[in-house]
Amino acid sequence: MNPHEVNTVRALLSEPQQAVIIPHKNPDGDAIGSCLGLYHFLRKLGHDAKVVAPNDYPKFLKWMPGNNDVIIFDKQTELAQGLLDKAALVFTLDFNDLGRVGPHMETALKQLKVPMVMIDHHQAPSDYAKVTYSDTGMSSTCEMVYRFIEAVGSTEIIDADIANCLYAGIVTDTGSFKFPSTSSDTHRIAADLIDKGAQNSDIHSNIFDTNTPARLHLLGCALKNMVIKAEVSTAYITLSQAELDQYQYKKGDTEGFVNYGLTLEGIKFAVIFIENKEEGIIKISFRSTGEFSVNDFARTYFNGGGHKNAAGGRSERSMEDTVAYFESLLEKHKKDLNP
Ligand code: 5GP
Ligand code: MN
Repeated sequence: MNPHEVNTVRALLSEPQQAVIIPHKNPDGDAIGSCLGLYHFLRKLGHDAKVVAPNDYPKFLKWMPGNNDVIIFDKQTELAQGLLDKAALVFTLDFNDLGRVGPHMETALKQLKVPMVMIDHHQAPSDYAKVTYSDTGMSSTCEMVYRFIEAVGSTEIIDADIANCLYAGIVTDTGSFKFPSTSSDTHRIAADLIDKGAQNSDIHSNIFDTNTPARLHLLGCALKNMVIKAEVSTAYITLSQAELDQYQYKKGDTEGFVNYGLTLEGIKFAVIFIENKEEGIIKISFRSTGEFSVNDFARTYFNGGGHKNAAGGRSERSMEDTVAYFESLLEKHKKDLNP
């Protein structure tokens, strides 16, 4: 954050405030971890902070300290709306555009007149916040919240609650410290969080060792469905609603499946298409290694976005048509994928 932004935030926090902290829809570990990390920090400073998530999230994120205080907008709409109406300050974390909270909550947020503070590491931030702390070079929003605390207050204030939440987001968004966005500073911050009480091994277990037999069977189905297009260094997976139903799909079950494509030698572009009959869409996740920008790809063709090597999007066509369209795009981008 630049000195002007730091001063603006300090002024906004100069008196005890009612603050609402918001992650994106379908929040992941970084979204929930950063919101709850900031929540504990603001409360320690004497503010009345609340986290309002657009919708519910998987059980493997519900162990974080403060989780029981999180309000779910689409389940507790009246309570959530009341908090938004009373808020003097809104923080939006781990997303770059108000549309990322989903249409209902977006409408509610657009009616607010109070200042917003964005903390986010996605590309191309929209211009809705009074303070836009955006840094696409950061591993995670949790790493940014650590730096935010350092700039606005002091890292001395970080206790075990804050440390556990921030560490959880760093570990998820860096793929356990293996993605290229992991810097030496990321490791220094993670080390400091452990010194301050983050239970690193337990956090890893809480997030990653929560498989059910049904989820492993769904993974088996996904891997069987994988199509490998070696000539364009691409592997993609499809999961139909019928397959999800067959393995009693629960929110979060497909998390990480897309990454398996990249574990194949020579594959640089991995994609998963997941049918959602209720919403009438195919939700798509894109991952790449190296220079091929899945952010551009998702933005250009699938109404989405994200980061250079990890992005998401959607299609309103059937699975069959979506995949056919995708295959035509692979042909079009043959040179980019196989330079
Ligand atoms: P995932 O594939 O895990 O859902 O998302 C990968 C990354 O892309 C995340 O950082 C996520 O925030 C972003 N992302 C996922 N879906 C969308 C989308 O529909 N629009 C935009 N702008 N970003 C997305
Ligand atoms: Mn993130």
